[in-house]
Order: sequence, then C-alpha cells, then structure tokens
Amino acid sequence: METRKVYLTEDEMPRQWYNVLADIKMNPPLGPDGKPVSPDKLAPVFPMNLIEQEVSPQRWIDIPEEVLRVLTIWRPTPLVRAYALEKALGTPARIYYKYEGVSPPGSHKPNTSVPQAYYNKVFGIKRLTTETGAGQWGSALAFACSQFGLECKVFMVRISFDQKPYRKSMMQAWGANCVASPSTETKAGRDILAKDPDTPGSLGIAISEAVEAAVTDETGQTRYSLGSVLNHVMLHQTIIGLEAKKQMEKIGEYPDVVIGCAGGGSNFAGLAFPYVYDKFNGKDVAIHPVEPEACPTMTKGPFAYDHGDTAGYTPLLPMYSLGHTFVPPPMHAGGLRYHGMAPTVSQLVTEGILEPKAVSQLATYKAGVLCARTEGVISAPETNHALACVIDEAEKAKEEGKEKVILFNWSGHGLIDLAAYEKYLSGELNDFAMPEREIEEAEKVLEKYPKPQLLKSR
Ligand SMILES: *Cc1c(COP(=O)(O)O)cnc(C)c1O
Repeated sequence: METRKVYLTEDEMPRQWYNVLADIKMNPPLGPDGKPVSPDKLAPVFPMNLIEQEVSPQRWIDIPEEVLRVLTIWRPTPLVRAYALEKALGTPARIYYKYEGVSPPGSHKPNTSVPQAYYNKVFGIKRLTTETGAGQWGSALAFACSQFGLECKVFMVRISFDQKPYRKSMMQAWGANCVASPSTETKAGRDILAKDPDTPGSLGIAISEAVEAAVTDETGQTRYSLGSVLNHVMLHQTIIGLEAKKQMEKIGEYPDVVIGCAGGGSNFAGLAFPYVYDKFNGKDVAIHPVEPEACPTMTKGPFAYDHGDTAGYTPLLPMYSLGHTFVPPPMHAGGLRYHGMAPTVSQLVTEGILEPKAVSQLATYKAGVLCARTEGVISAPETNHALACVIDEAEKAKEEGKEKVILFNWSGHGLIDLAAYEKYLSGELNDFAMPEREIEEAEKVLEKYPKPQLLKSR
C-alpha cells in the first residue's frame, strides 16, 4: 500500500521558529507624525516580550517548553498526499497538504494564540481582547486563554456573529465573552453604528473596538491580541512550514509550488516562509498566496502605508491595502475579508519572491466540494481558495505533462461553516469581483499618507 500520511514524532517537532525579518528589508511602521514608531509606544497594546519578537532581527527564535507542551495537544500535524484528488484530476502532479484542521478550534490559528497567551501570562497580563471575523481566531484565542488561565473578550464581526452562532458557543465553552461588532461598548463601535446602524461590520472595525477596549482598561492588566498580519504572528506560524520540510525530506520530496490562502497572510506565511528562506539560498520554488477576487488586496491594491484598523488607531503599516475604510462584500470566507496584508508578505510580493493569485467565490466552492468528495475533508471556505489554486496548478501540470510537486496548507476544516456550503449547493452563492471604481476610491483614501520605499532584500 502506498503511504498516504507522513508523521513526525513529538521529539522531531521544531524547537525554534524561523524569523523572516532576519532576511528581508522592511519599511518601518509610522506613527501619526509620519515618523517611525518606537517599539515602546506599543506597550499599552501588547506585552513587551511580544513587542521584542515583533521587531527582532534574530533568524531563529526558541519556542518555550510551556508552549510546546500545549502545541502537542494536536502537533505535529500530518503531511498528507492527496492521491484521490490527483486521480480525479488525472494530473501527473504529486499533491501534498499540511493538515492544520486537527487543532481543537479546527484551524492553524492556535499556533499563534497559544504562544501569545503564554507571553502575556508570563508578562503578568490577566485579560486579552481581540476581534474575530469568521470566528476562527476568537475561538483559537479563547482556547489558548483557557489553557493559560487568562480572561478573553472577543469582538466578532456582525455578519459572522449572525451567520455562525456555533463559533460563539465554542468561545463560550472555552470561557470567553463574545459580542457582535460594531458594539455599543466602545467609542469606535458607537461612532460607526451612528453612521450606519445596519453595517455588516468588518475586521477593521472590530480591531478598532478590541484595541480600544484593551488600552482604556484601567487595571493595566489587559492587552490586545491579533491573529494575523503582525510579524510575531507570522513567526509563530512558521512551525507549519518547518514541520512540512522535515516531513517532505523523510520521503525525499521537495515542492516546485507552495500555495496557501491569504487573508492577513499568517497561514500562508507559516507554510511559505521557511521555503522563502530556501529561495533566498538558491532554491527554485514558486510560491503563491491566494486571495478572493472580492477582496483583491495583493492583486489589485496599491502597496502603501495604511492603518491596520478602520478607526486608524494602529500605526501606519507598509502593505498592500484596499484602504482601511474598505468594507468587503459579505462573502462567505469571513477570514479573508480584510483590507490589508501582512507587511512581511507584502514586502516579498513587491520583490517578486511571492506571486499572488486571486480566485472567484464560485471557483473556491467548486474546488471545496471536489476535495470533500475525493480527499474526504470538508474544507474551511478560506482554504477553498488555496484548493482552487492547487487545482489550477495541477491542471497546468497535466497540460504540460509535468510531474510537479505541489504543497499547500489546508488551513482548517469547514464543519462550522456549513451554512455557506448549503448556499453554494442550493445555487444561491454568487461571484463578486471588486469594481475598478472602488479600487480607485481605495487609492484616494491612501493618498494622504507617506509612500513606502521599494526595497530590495537581496
Ligand atoms: C483565519 C483563517 C484564514 C485566514 O487568515 P490568515 O491570517 O491569512 O491565515 C485562513 N484559513 C482559515 C481556516 C482561517 O481560520
């Protein structure tokens, strides 16, 4: 029988994360005065030990024992050969995926919520606030906080709060408090509700609320936690790619193509950055972050300085952005409805090291259903974007008659997102590409900010 899965033992788990900052040049984050923000300015928002990681130039960073101990609840995750999908496509490509859906919350997100909760706990913090889109991040942070005995408060984007009640139940089961955003609990939320009482909400708005709730807490023992975009989040996720490399090595394989879906960029970066390191060292590998046509940050947006949130509380970050006031259409991959993209991922896109792709909503569900009926796993709507790109690449390999090796990140399962599948299967789901007019508007929003430089890392 052919081997379907490649495992690592717990002893073989990586003991260090890979920090891409050691290998790339970055524009600094800017404060409201247009000057680089000094890291200590972030102290009301994040604990100092995480701020140090955020700006660390060190290439390899030790994973604390206490973090590894919690990660072993589900890690190392399996590397799986997608034989059934290959067969259905009739492709000569060999397709492998790293399956991150085995974590308790069902996605890659606890790879960073666990270390974040740990570093906050060690720093003496008692309570974390955060936002959540589809509910994956909120549930991942709720899980991590319960492991380390921290309180957790989650602002959940209104449309998902209504569409995905079970995510809220998961957060509550892990002891967290979850409210719909915009809420009346913060000034940012009240201002938006006054202007647009029926808003579906957005990640940008929810981030504003969570940051405000953290920094205005009078005890000084509350901090904010972000599930994507920031450098330290990308760092924590690299355990995915580092494991994958060891697993591929065991079977004598190396990918020609690496693929991940990208909302804020973290699951993609987690798999891809260890391969970016190889690419800097001479390896030939194509790397594709995949985004929705309805929220085409990297493929249509400008590379600019922009805020990470709607109210403009965060520093200006150098990234591809559709503008911080952009409210994406209420499509179903909630985790990909974000106006910006991780600055590290953005920088690598400007340099041509990563080649982004955009896919339509219907293509993603078609891919998701094919994979459910072949590989058996019902995928998260976000992961379906990666699946659509994988299928494109496998079909290209078939046309070219090439034995390509494709590796992708299966970032999560979709068992709590079945409402979206129901819509797709009953023909109610539509395609929506962002109109050019709105892209021009995004560019206008960004005109007033300084422009990042085009830097070359190598
Ligand atoms: C949140 C989420 C994403 C998108 O977030 P990234 O930071 O871009 O990884 C993708 N897949 C799943 C399953 C998610 O929960």
